[in-house]
Amino acid sequence: MDRYLVVGAGFSGSVLARELAEQLPCTVDVFDERSHIGGNCHTYRDELSGVMIHTYGPHIFNTDDKRVWDCVNHHGSFRPFVNRVKAVIDRGVFAIPINLHTINQFFGLKMNPKQASEFIASLGDESIIEPANLEEYALKLMGRELYEAFFKGYTTKQWGCDPRELPASILKRLPIRSNYDDNYYDKKFVGIPEEGYGEVVASILRHPAIRVRLGERIHPCSILDEYRHVFWTGPIDAYFDYSEGQLGYRSVTFERIDALGDYQGNAQINYPGMEVPFTRIHEHKHFTPWERHERTVAFREYSKETTKGEIPYYPKRFSSDLKVLERYRERANSLKGISFLGRLGTYRYMDMEAVIRDALNHATESVGLLLRRDQPSLFPNEFTG
Ligand code: UDP
Repeated sequence: MDRYLVVGAGFSGSVLARELAEQLPCTVDVFDERSHIGGNCHTYRDELSGVMIHTYGPHIFNTDDKRVWDCVNHHGSFRPFVNRVKAVIDRGVFAIPINLHTINQFFGLKMNPKQASEFIASLGDESIIEPANLEEYALKLMGRELYEAFFKGYTTKQWGCDPRELPASILKRLPIRSNYDDNYYDKKFVGIPEEGYGEVVASILRHPAIRVRLGERIHPCSILDEYRHVFWTGPIDAYFDYSEGQLGYRSVTFERIDALGDYQGNAQINYPGMEVPFTRIHEHKHFTPWERHERTVAFREYSKETTKGEIPYYPKRFSSDLKVLERYRERANSLKGISFLGRLGTYRYMDMEAVIRDALNHATESVGLLLRRDQPSLFPNEFTG
């Protein structure tokens, strides 16, 4: 019977391990250097308040992909959740992403959808033909006033640089709506697992052919020979001992606030202004509106550069990073018997659903090749570096 190694017990590694275990006569060892499964989706129940806490910041599952939604729902009971994010700026409290209410409230107007669309278009900077960066994209789309109120400071704090150094793709994640829809996500399926993500990932990993080992750091060279194939979902630069340089990530830190009752009245409130150093405050009992708790726990979230040994969150993908990534890809191309996948393995800004879709696709492709005694590919298909 073949043995496979999966490094990383987040969604990527867990989904892949499960697919291998179900489809191949094999055993799968899943290692994670952390003491828990679930990677950055990890949740735990707080002892003091009883509230379910998203250890590494809020994770709201959102997808249009029925296959991905079915996959997670097979392993946990998801409750519908609508994230109605607010932004506190000097003029007041507004809905974010920008919607018709935000626009009317911000400009003191009473426009309908058609008027608002035309109005927003009229604010855009027409002199910008091809936006070269995030700031130019925002100025072309919405003009300076809205950009500076809601995005400039937040983006500067979040990414630790001038928004002119960032790609427009980061802001393209957020729509501008000409209706009153204040749901942060406009996906078909949006929810949060009733008992947290830990239960979902534990169920994915619960299979007789899967063995999970936590709190153990794998040194790749020492172990590869024991396995038919290795699936690496940890940072690609860590695999190569950072020998070509360190890829840039933003990390976040949290300052805990304990209180009785309701601290801010909402799950997530953003603070786009530079007058406060944090980006947002999340109050976790509002992510489980089906539960009741007397106490509450909230976290101020600060963004920072990731240094070696710290938990990486957002791949920066600056041009200097992409050059380093290219060197790792070349090194990886000379290897056999290993695939790199997931947010860290491919160094991409991926939501949970994208990670799961890649893992499912990669597993399907790999299983076919492994059954033919062939080599699975190095990276998932969509990975373009
Ligand atoms: N953003 C912002 N103001 C906000 C919310 C988001 O400027 O109130 C910008 C910021 O640059 C952020 C990007 O929009 O990195 C994408 O936001 P999203 O909520 O998708 O980020 P996530 O934390 O989910 O990756």
